[in-house]
Amino acid sequence: MLLFTPGPTPVPESIRMEMARPTIHHRTPEFEACFKQAREGLLAMIKMPEVLMLASSGSGAMEACVRAFCAKKLLSINSGKFGERFAKIAQAYNIPNQEITNEWDTPVSVEAIINALQADEQIDAVCVQVCESAGGLRHPVEAIAQAVKQHNPDIMVIADAITAMGVEPIDTSHIDALIGGSQKAFMLPPGMSIIGLSQKAVLMAEERDVGFYFNLKTELKNQRNNTTAWTAPTTIITGLVKYFSDIEALGGMEAIYSQTRQRALATRVALEAIGLKIYPKAPALAMTTIFDEKHASQIRKILKNEFCLNLAGGQDRLKTSIFRINHMGMIPIHEALWVVNAIELALERLGVRSFDGRANAVFLQHYYS
Ligand SMILES: *Cc1c(COP(=O)(O)O)cnc(C)c1O
Repeated sequence: MLLFTPGPTPVPESIRMEMARPTIHHRTPEFEACFKQAREGLLAMIKMPEVLMLASSGSGAMEACVRAFCAKKLLSINSGKFGERFAKIAQAYNIPNQEITNEWDTPVSVEAIINALQADEQIDAVCVQVCESAGGLRHPVEAIAQAVKQHNPDIMVIADAITAMGVEPIDTSHIDALIGGSQKAFMLPPGMSIIGLSQKAVLMAEERDVGFYFNLKTELKNQRNNTTAWTAPTTIITGLVKYFSDIEALGGMEAIYSQTRQRALATRVALEAIGLKIYPKAPALAMTTIFDEKHASQIRKILKNEFCLNLAGGQDRLKTSIFRINHMGMIPIHEALWVVNAIELALERLGVRSFDGRANAVFLQHYYS
């Protein structure tokens, strides 16, 4: 069965083999050397002054950032389940919160955010997804961050890049906290989150000194010395070092970004060519989301039962009306190609369209020319 869900993504054999080696103790020079390599790889990737690795899924880092960087009131963007999560975190800690809510196919506008900030001077932090995975939507995060800082440089910008880090280059020049997760484009098992920090965020974390397990001040102090406050997710970190060396061998991050982009765009045009509809108005590169109220569930079932493909459905109100195809990670081109072929075959099984190999042809033309 090929795993094509937008997280967790499959863990490549080279990384699995690396992680199968004997566990090293986290308070040793060997592990510190490994931690240093992982840190340097991440810093080079996200181009920010600091980075932290935490033993938690992505939501743990979201919670840590809301607590560390919002002192008064949070503005969060709800265009899906993950944006909604920021508001739930605020509620759990009695942090006042305002939400901008849109349909799950609609990105937030820069104007809507600036209007909200102008209307309420209490707001001191803005949370937004780079890619909102509920619908595979790309928010204009870089433009939002720049406009927020122009409006007031003291307002903190927290970007959930869990399905963007490792997918595409992100301009982090105006972002204070950039969140990542091991189980998405890094192709690692679930269990580690990442937070890139601006200089301003570092100072604020140190000044505010909030929380215990997710205390970013404590982590900064330790991680600058290549160790962690609590037991590190050592196995995942050794896997991350292997990920960076595999990427180097494949031509570096830029090569991965460009392949991911080409694969995503080729998938999109191939599926449109066989009559399918792309769901979001601004599709992200991490995944392709197809909207088909009538057939989405059946297509997924056929792909699983007959063609060995595991794709994701939707959540909540979109549970049965969309399906999502992952593009994150180092995906062999023949696997991505098999996905569009199998979807075209599924449409024939459902009597929607007779098979003529069009998806395959369009994908290849687009990818190679
Ligand atoms: C996967 C994901 C998360 C994190 O979810 P966890 O289950 O806590 O790892 C957060 N935001 C987005 C956009 C995601 O895709």
